[in-house]
Amino acid sequence: MTFRKSDVLILGGGAIGLATALQLLKSGASVRVVEQGKVGNGASHANCGTLTPSHAIPLLVPGMLRKSLGQIFRRDAPLYISPRPDLNRLLWLLKLAHRTSWARVERAAEARMQLLQRSTQLTAQWVREEPLDCEYAADGSLYVYRDAQSFREAEWHAEMLERLGLEVQRLNGAAVQAMEPALLPGMSGGYFHPGDAHLRPDRFVDELARRVRELGGIIEESARIEKFHTEGKRVDAVRTHRGVYSGERLVMALGAWSPQLAHMIGLRLPMQPGKGYSLTWTRPPRAPLRPLMLREDSVCVTSWDSGFRLGSTLEFSGYDSQLRDVRLNAIRRAAARYLREPAGPMMREMWWGWRPMSVDQLPIIGIGKRWSNLVYATAHGMLGMSMAAATAEIVAECCGAGGGASDIRIDAFSPRRFGL
Ligand SMILES: Cc1cc2nc3c(=O)[nH]c(=O)nc-3n(C[C@H](O)[C@H](O)[C@H](O)COP(=O)(O)OP(=O)(O)OC[C@H]3O[C@@H](n4cnc5c(N)ncnc54)[C@H](O)[C@@H]3O)c2cc1C
Repeated sequence: MTFRKSDVLILGGGAIGLATALQLLKSGASVRVVEQGKVGNGASHANCGTLTPSHAIPLLVPGMLRKSLGQIFRRDAPLYISPRPDLNRLLWLLKLAHRTSWARVERAAEARMQLLQRSTQLTAQWVREEPLDCEYAADGSLYVYRDAQSFREAEWHAEMLERLGLEVQRLNGAAVQAMEPALLPGMSGGYFHPGDAHLRPDRFVDELARRVRELGGIIEESARIEKFHTEGKRVDAVRTHRGVYSGERLVMALGAWSPQLAHMIGLRLPMQPGKGYSLTWTRPPRAPLRPLMLREDSVCVTSWDSGFRLGSTLEFSGYDSQLRDVRLNAIRRAAARYLREPAGPMMREMWWGWRPMSVDQLPIIGIGKRWSNLVYATAHGMLGMSMAAATAEIVAECCGAGGGASDIRIDAFSPRRFGL
């Protein structure tokens, strides 16, 4: 077996791994990325591609699980928990529920907002300067409510975002309709977030990979990691199908697969895959002008010149890899309640992906105490595209290759909070 060494060896070729590779190369480090399939074949492929500081508030807040309790075992519910017994998953869900006090939510929201705002700014800069051709647009996002009571009840969310420094515009039904003619008449109202943006995720990943190669980075595709070599407190190398690779630093950017691989080196990451689905068509004539969040049904709608996508659902069913019609159909039905044209002329792709979910709804970024040269860059949950660029910046700092540009308080993301 060949043995090849670089300054930084990045494990995983999704948005997080490739953004990190780009940032490190720009800082002068040599980089190799190892990826089991093609780049971006995990969660970074057909997600909704929104960059959303407006999602700074964690999804699970006090009372939410209790409110959804009557629905969570229904196979077409937006939040679904598989009733199949799995002790690990059950314990993880109990810990997740236990960690959703308002005090924790406020702290998490603040940390997430910092990362999201820096990342949105940095992504725009990369798109402009590299440049990355990925159908990027900084045109905000619109949260839409059909039901008057849900709209009223969502006011706390807007107020909290404002307290965190985000601009939110409140719109009545007529204003929502005027802003977004693709919606059916009769919406109750909405919130517009001018600070949000979107891009086409598969193109973003391909463009990151192109730039990484142009800057001299090496991407090893079809290189499935099978074993780690360790020495004292260091992880020295990984053995893959294609050879053995080593780095002064290793970056774990393995998305939802991170706990499985971390287990091989004695680490227990408090993470579960949170499965989501999407449907992609060619663009319909009356596609929405900007990303929409259809709030009562938790469906995200994104349009690009090259397509139109509905994405949704959070499913805790372990590493289940089936594309389930019941869930795709629920997304279609939900979109039909809001949109004049809830589907495009030609179906392009039906997809599922595993979001890498952490138990406290914060990513895990930084160096832990068990392995001195291992940098974590994982657990970005529902927000990996939105957080990729700022994560890359923090990881570069941890690798000694940062420019000190970021003033994000990184303690909140430290692996040490889980004793890692
Ligand atoms: C339906 C849906 C919609 C979403 N919408 C949004 C959105 O609008 N905005 C947003 O910010 N986020 C969104 N997300 C979340 C986002 O997709 C993820 O947070 C993000 O893609 C995670 O990136 P990653 O690089 O950590 O993981 P991944 O993209 O999953 O990358 C991990 C990589 O590791 C590789 N790998 C795994 N095991 C091995 C191994 N043994 N050897 C080598 N390589 C390995 C995998 O092949 C994979 O390519 C959405 C997710 C879903 C499912």
